[in-house]
Amino acid sequence: MSEYDTVSADVQHEEEIPEDHPRYQDLITRHRIENGVEKGITHLQGMHAEGRGSAFDYLLGEETIPSADAAERAAAAHLLLAEKPVLSINGNVAALVPGEMVELADAVDADLEVNLFNRTPERIEAIADHLREHGAEDVKGLTADARIPNLDHQRAKVDADGIYAADVVVVPLEDGDRAEALQEMEKTEIVIDLNPLSRSPQVAEIPIVDNIIRAVPNMTAHAEELATASEAELRTIIEEFDREHALAAAEERIRNGV
Ligand code: ATP
Repeated sequence: MSEYDTVSADVQHEEEIPEDHPRYQDLITRHRIENGVEKGITHLQGMHAEGRGSAFDYLLGEETIPSADAAERAAAAHLLLAEKPVLSINGNVAALVPGEMVELADAVDADLEVNLFNRTPERIEAIADHLREHGAEDVKGLTADARIPNLDHQRAKVDADGIYAADVVVVPLEDGDRAEALQEMEKTEIVIDLNPLSRSPQVAEIPIVDNIIRAVPNMTAHAEELATASEAELRTIIEEFDREHALAAAEERIRNGV
């Protein structure tokens, strides 16, 4: 038995997980999702989503592969060029990267909107509070006065001055139906999802196949570096990004390890 086998399954604080543990990032992720469920932020189904993501991340090598980095840079360029960028937050996103989403929103001047698959007033409020605790000033998604066309009532709810009006949306860990419906609204969709075969990255203009824990800080770093770039430079970055190549490269890494 290695010393690492002694990491308890029910650690109370993530500081109790040793940073040099070979499964450190995965343990932190699991811990944050469990905390999210306990705090009423994350739905139980979010644990299954996390399990799927964790398996894909293992096969990716738990690192940001070059094609994902290129996608994150192109996403930053899109967000900087956008008139009305919005970052969508669900229960897993709120549990895993609340402060990081607030930082990305600040870096690209975007709104944050709570958007849930299993929508209840309690969970919306809990997530909005959680985001405010991590520095968010204005959280959208509570009004829900507009509907995404071609989706069932509950999942279609969005804010009229939020996702409904956005030209560029970041939808991490999004369900396939909603990703398709947003695409039909002709928004520029940036999806973060560890499964390159999932429908959401398949329909996204910018599919980011990376763990959200790594992807969001890296998008912020690119946005900060590109803050003074010209419109022409940003457009070149977007044009040079090849979504088909990015999806194929991620699948190749997962299937064959190369
Ligand atoms: P579809 O998009 O086709 O409906 P699905 O039913 O597998 O596929 P969901 O359960 O709706 O998808 O969403 C979960 C998705 O989020 C999975 O594809 C999973 O790989 C991904 N995922 C889970 N955790 C993370 C994470 N930490 N970072 C990035 N992606 C993740």
